[in-house]
Order: sequence, then structure tokens, then C-alpha cells
Amino acid sequence: MKVEKFPGRIQPYLLPKVDGEIVYRCLLCNKEFDIKKLLYTCPVCGSVLLLEDKAADRLKKIPGAVWRDLFDYRKMLNVRAMRGIYRYHEFIGPILPLDSIVYLGEGDTPVIEANGLLQNKVGRKFYFKNDGQNPSASFKDRGMASALSYINYLIGTGSVSEILAVCASTGDTSASAALYASYLQPKIKSAVLLPHKKVTPQQLAQPLGSGAAVFEIPGVFDDCMKVVEALSENYNVALLNSKNAWRILGQESYSYEIAQQFDYDIDNKALVVPIGNAGNITAIISGFLKFFETGIITTLPKIIGVQSVHADPVFRYYLEPDSKKRVFEPVTVRPSVAQAAMIGNPVSMPRVIHLVKKYNETAREQRVFFVDVTEQSIMDWQLTANRNGHIVCTQGGESLAGLVEAIADGIVEKNEEVICDSTAHALKFSGFQEMYFEDRFPEGYEIRPKREFRNTPRLVRPKVLKEVPEPGKPLPPKQFEEFVRITSEEIASILDLKKKH
Ligand SMILES: *Cc1c(COP(=O)(O)O)cnc(C)c1O
Ligand SMILES: [Zn+2]
Repeated sequence: MKVEKFPGRIQPYLLPKVDGEIVYRCLLCNKEFDIKKLLYTCPVCGSVLLLEDKAADRLKKIPGAVWRDLFDYRKMLNVRAMRGIYRYHEFIGPILPLDSIVYLGEGDTPVIEANGLLQNKVGRKFYFKNDGQNPSASFKDRGMASALSYINYLIGTGSVSEILAVCASTGDTSASAALYASYLQPKIKSAVLLPHKKVTPQQLAQPLGSGAAVFEIPGVFDDCMKVVEALSENYNVALLNSKNAWRILGQESYSYEIAQQFDYDIDNKALVVPIGNAGNITAIISGFLKFFETGIITTLPKIIGVQSVHADPVFRYYLEPDSKKRVFEPVTVRPSVAQAAMIGNPVSMPRVIHLVKKYNETAREQRVFFVDVTEQSIMDWQLTANRNGHIVCTQGGESLAGLVEAIADGIVEKNEEVICDSTAHALKFSGFQEMYFEDRFPEGYEIRPKREFRNTPRLVRPKVLKEVPEPGKPLPPKQFEEFVRITSEEIASILDLKKKH
């Protein structure tokens, strides 16, 4: 809809102005730093940073009801820069002029209610938010749109030039980074580091297709991450991992989208989120806090972080109920089908500790919980979901397994509705489905395929037929007719079909 068609009271707010006062804030020493320089860790103490809008109080002057209307009206606005995460411009990147924003179709992913069968099986009303429907088929695109829009802005102002963007990845970060960087070439080039044989063939194909320089490194993601950190500390490169606070800021849109998709009625809502490097859960917690503080939502939803028992350092940290006695210890990861979350030493752990405390204090009760789930349950729930009309990845299966676990633990009440994060598209992880169907999981996964889920193609090649069609070699009409008749009869007999009269 054209700007002049919107109601007069909305028009002044419709197109955001450049505003705000964004700084990097160190979570450990509390010092702040100018954003003119690309920073990833605190130059004073080395801890991770978050972006803070020092002028955020201005947002509280606008009533919550006006914000809610504004975001709803903006849904009808065809200004492309604001179709994705920058619908929430004032919260996601108020310092960015619209013409520096990179939009490739990220954000605003659909929320799909589970069918009755599946809800009965699980025992709660629940939904998947399908983040596999982002452009590179994972949630990472929100953060990448934010990081690359900011870099694009810096290039525009002449503060930086000839950027080489680098990241380490369990697959999806590199797919996303390479996609956005290729859109901005030749100003930006990208190089991605992947743990050798620890990303799926589909995920490997993505940065290759985008033209990134792709490096495979021995070991697991945590090893890769150290190499990339060394690169970003010693060389002039832009780091695109979630250590980069701009990634977190962009991913906060996930929470804003959910608030809007439920008409800002967050009472009795719970979210389930898989945790790897812990950037996603950091962003989600931070996002809800900001909408709550601005009066756009009036309750803070329950947030449940899930990890596989094969990579569960965050879960283990919170096992200790006394916050003073908690000590963070990285774990050595074991093979996981939730491979995109197979991380033993999450970079965002200090952010999680900081924000979980703040969230629970703001809500005046515990609102963030953690569960861990077996590899078997991740696979079984992923397959169950997809047999009921979903397209969830293994990490989405992890979310659902986490919900089932949280119900068993009494974390999710009867009247609560739950939104499970399906963080990527099922197709990226179809190799695990194949291993399940063909019973080929190596020992380390500890997965035994259940017979009822198995599914394999059947070749129909009736023996009575001497010849069948081949590519480039069609059968003569009579033989072809015979082929169609006999083949269809064989299929009908396998399916036990009744003949029409
Ligand atoms: C990155 C990723 C995760 C883990 O998210 P973090 O922000 O690293 O905690 C989970 N699922 C998928 C599909 C991912 O790509
Ligand atoms: Zn510091």
C-alpha cells in the first residue's frame, strides 16, 4: 500500500528516521565503545559485547498501542528495506538509513500450528516457526542481514572498504554469510571455515554456490572457531560469527515477529529453542525484554533452551540451582544429528548468563528453563513432525523433543501454548533421515531406527516386460501401452487398490 493511503495518525511514524545512539557494551567490565570500528570482543577485558541503544528511552515515549498498530500497518508497506527484520527498524538498527539495508527475504517466517494428531501426541497446543523458510534456509539470515547492512552502511560512509568477511560454521552461518556477501560483491568477499565432514553436503554446496572461498578444517566446530578468532584478531577481516554483536541484534526480530504473529498477546506462551553457540537464545531473550520494556507486550513468555545430551554445556551449567555456585565448563561434543548445534564451548555463554538473570528478574520469577534430550528422541520427533505436514530440520526435532521433555518435567503448564523453533529447512539435513531409514548410524550417535518410521523407495520393474523406457530411448507405441498397463497394475496390487466400475 502507498504511504499516503495509511491513516494520518500512522503516517508520521511509518517510515523510520535515522535515530538512536548505538554503542558496544562489554558485559564483563561494562565499558562502552564506539561502533565506528568493527569490534567483536572488548578491547579492555576481552569479553563479548552487546549493542546498546543509549537513547532507547525515547522509544518508551510512544505508547505500546501505537507501536503495535505501527508494526501491523507496516506489514502492508511495500518499502522493500522494511519487508524483513527492519519492520522493527527502531529496535533492530535505528542508526541505519533505509538505503543501506540489505534485504534478501529474511524474517517474518510463518508460524504453523501442528495438526490435531500431533498436538494430541505431544499433549499441548503448539506451533513451529519455520525458519527454514529464510533465504539461505536457516534463522541465521536475520543476523546476517543486520551485520551486512551495517557493513554496507560503513562502506557507504567511506569508513571501511574492500571487506573480507569470514566465519566459522556448523554449516548454516557460512551458507548465510556467503549468500549476503555475494549480493554485495565486489565490495565484500567472503571466506568460510567449516569443520571437515561435519556439515551436510547441502550446507557445503551453499557457500560453494555463492562463490565464497571455502576452507575445511580438521576437528569440530569449536576448533574451527579458534582459527577464525585468530584470523579476526590478527588480520583485517570482518567476523560474521554470532560473536559479532550485530548478528545478535538482527536475530532479535524473531521475538518481535512472534509477538506480532500472536497479536502481541503473549500470556501463556512458551518458546522452545535449540542452543548451539547460544546466539539465537541470546537474541530471543533480549528481543522480548525490549518489547516488554517498551510496553509493546505486557508479559514475558517462558523460554526453554534445548540441548542434545551429546553437546549440553549450557544445560549442565544451569543444573546447579544456586547461581553463586554455578561454574561454566565446556564439554567435549559427541556426534549429534542436531549438528548445527553441536557446540561444546558456546561463544555467547556470558551473554546467556547476563540475560537469563535479567529476564528472570524482570519477570519476578523463573521464566527461562533448560532441558536436554537424547539423539534418539531428536530423530524420532523430527520424523514424527514431518509425517504430520511439517518441514522441520533435526534441530526442529530437537525443539519438539525438548517440548516433550519440558512437559514431562512440569515446566510447561496445561494451558500454555508453545512455539517450537524449527531453525532450518528439513532438506539441509536429509542425510540423517537417510541414515535412519537405512539403519546406517555409526555407533556414536546411539540411534536405533524405529520400524514404523522407516521409508524407502521401491523400484517397480515388472519382470514380464522385456523392455522398459530409458532416457532418450522411448518405446514403440504398442510396447509402451503394455508397459503403462502392467506397471500400473503392479502398483495397484501393492497398494491394494479397488478397481473402478
Ligand atoms: C546455528 C544453528 C543453531 C544453533 O544456534 P545458536 O545461535 O548457535 O545457538 C541451531 N539450529 C540451526 C539450524 C542452526 O543453523
Ligand atoms: Zn570489557
